[in-house]
Amino acid sequence: MTNLQPCIECGALISKSAWPCPKCKTHNPQGVHCSVCGYWSTPISEKEALSRTNEANIRWYHPECAKRILSIPADALCRDCRTPLASFWDWETILKDTNRDNKSCPNCGAKSVLVKDGMSTGHLCIRCELPLLSFHELDGLYHASCHADMNKEAKEIIGQAEDKLRREQEDARRSRGGCSGIILVLLVLLVFLRVLFS
Ligand SMILES: [Zn+2]
Ligand SMILES: [Zn+2]
Ligand SMILES: [Zn+2]
Ligand SMILES: [Zn+2]
Repeated sequence: MTNLQPCIECGALISKSAWPCPKCKTHNPQGVHCSVCGYWSTPISEKEALSRTNEANIRWYHPECAKRILSIPADALCRDCRTPLASFWDWETILKDTNRDNKSCPNCGAKSVLVKDGMSTGHLCIRCELPLLSFHELDGLYHASCHADMNKEAKEIIGQAEDKLRREQEDARRSRGGCSGIILVLLVLLVFLRVLFS
């Protein structure tokens, strides 16, 4: 009974270990994780998510998360002809385009205008696996926001583990305290009985 749960795509009650879903054949009956929000976030259905295939691996995204990372700001310009990059590309084209050769400016032909200075073409953020683009603020090979999210998560996970440990230690101390209390009561009772019957 407890081993059953609804498939996130079709709602059929299926075994937790069923793969793919026997009814709708989805390979992700428990949902997919947004690569921007991270592995510990609530899973979503494939229908709600956007996908991108990098090499052999499929990454999933909340549409709003992919949009937040990939939207081209109005002040991102071609370094040569100064045309706004947003007049050529939008975030959805960048999401779908997994060709590692970076784009040259359709107006003046300048090479790799979407690539950050000094970075080789096609670099992906280690966390979200979306491209690192010229207008992004970076932290090593991460988007700065992705790196900050990752640090926050790590702190939360460590915090939860520490809380659990603290609670277990307190429980252990309390049960030890409880034991010595009972022993004390028994000792007092014993002394009392001895006095009574001597
Ligand atoms: Zn299903
Ligand atoms: Zn997300
Ligand atoms: Zn240009
Ligand atoms: Zn990222």
